[in-house]
Amino acid sequence: MPVFDVATVRKDFPILGRSVRGHPLTYLDNAATSQKPLAVIKALERYYSEQNANVHRGVHLLSEEATTAYEAARGSVAKFLGLKDTSGCVFVRGATEGINLVAECWGRTHLKAGDEILLTHLEHHANIVPWQVIAERTGAKVLVTPVTPRGEVDLVAFKGLLSARTKLVAFAHVSNALGTVNPAAEMTRLAKAAGAVVLIDGCQSAAHFKVDVPALGCDFYAFSGHKTFGPTGIGVLWGRPELLDAMPPYQFGGDMIRKVDFAGTTFREAPERFEAGTPDISGAIGLGVALEYFMPIQAAAHAHEQVLLAAATERLKAIKGLTIVGEAPEKVAVISFNIEGGHPHDIGTLLDADGIAIRTGHHCCMPLMKHYGLSGTARASFAFYNTLEEVDRLAVSLEKARKMMA
Ligand code: PLP
Repeated sequence: MPVFDVATVRKDFPILGRSVRGHPLTYLDNAATSQKPLAVIKALERYYSEQNANVHRGVHLLSEEATTAYEAARGSVAKFLGLKDTSGCVFVRGATEGINLVAECWGRTHLKAGDEILLTHLEHHANIVPWQVIAERTGAKVLVTPVTPRGEVDLVAFKGLLSARTKLVAFAHVSNALGTVNPAAEMTRLAKAAGAVVLIDGCQSAAHFKVDVPALGCDFYAFSGHKTFGPTGIGVLWGRPELLDAMPPYQFGGDMIRKVDFAGTTFREAPERFEAGTPDISGAIGLGVALEYFMPIQAAAHAHEQVLLAAATERLKAIKGLTIVGEAPEKVAVISFNIEGGHPHDIGTLLDADGIAIRTGHHCCMPLMKHYGLSGTARASFAFYNTLEEVDRLAVSLEKARKMMA
C-alpha cells in the first residue's frame, strides 16, 4: 500500500485552504458532496479552453478530441467498477437519475400485480420513492427489510422476505445516514438465488472503498460523480448490457437512435440507448479525471479514514449526553449523533460558527429516522483529506455546543 500523506493530499484540494467565519474550514459534510481536486478543476478549465465541441457528431478535430476524452472517461468508470468493458456504463445525472431510469425502464416492462420489490429500512429517498411510484403504477408491492438497533440490515428478516414473488431487490451499499456497510455480495447472492434482479445504490460506497461490480454479482449499480470527487451533474448507472439492451429507452433524441424514419425508429444498444441528446461532456471528463486521481490512493485512503472513524467515535462517545446512532461493526467514516437537550440544527449552527461543516436533519432517510423515533441527527462525514486535527476540532466544538445547549 502506498504511503498516505494527508498533508500532501490536502494540497490537491484548493477549497480546503479557505477559512470560514474566521476559522480554517473543517469540511465534514462529505456524504452530501465531496470536494474536488485541482486535477478535476483544471480538466474542466482545459476542456472549455481547448477542446469544447459536441461529441459523436463532428468530423472536425475538436469534436474528435472531445469524443475521445468523453469515451476515455467511460473507460475510467469501467476500470473503477472492476469491469472489463464499458458497454454497460451509462452516463446519467447522478444516482437519483440512475435509479429512476431502472425503475421506469426496467420496472415498467417487468413488474405486474402480485410482484414484490424488496428494499431496506436504511434507504435514501432516492432508492425508495421511484420504487413506490412504479409499484403504484404496476400493482407491484414494496416490502421493507428491517434494521437492527445497531443499524445493520437484519439478514434473517431479509432472507425471510425473499420469495418467488420478489422481482427486484434494491439496497444501499453503504447507508448515508449511519455509515453502515451492508453485506452487499451476500445480499445479492441471496436475492439472485430467489430469482430477483438486484440494484445496488453505490452513492456512499464509491468514495470510500474499492467497488468490484463483478464480485458483487448485481445487475445494476449506480453512483454520483459529485460524491466521488468529480463534478456535479454527472453520475453513472452500470447495468448488465443484456438487461439494458432489452429495456425500452426513456428519453428519445439524438445519439440514441440507429435509424429514424417516419415509418418507425430503431434504437441503439447501451450505453448510447440511454444517453439521448448532448450529454454532460465536461462533467464526464471531470469524473474520469476524479476517478483516475482516486484509484491509486483508494486503499490507503480507506485505511486513513478508518483511523479517523475510530478516533472520532472515541472522542464523541466521551461527550456527556451524546448518543451515536448507528454502530454497526462495518462502517465507513460517517457518524450520526444527537446531544441531549439540543436540536440537530442547533448543533450544526454552533459548529458552523467554528468553521465546521456538518449535515443535520433527516438525511433524506425519513423512514429510518422514524424507525429510531428521531426527527433527525447531526452527521459528521469524513473523506480521506480530513485529519486527526479536524477530529479534535470537532470534539472541542461539540463540547462547547453541549454546554451552550445545556
Ligand atoms: N443514495 C444515497 C445513499 C445517497 O446518499 C444519495 C445522496 O445523498 C443519493 C442516493 C442521491 O444522490 P444524488 O442526489 O447525487 O443523485
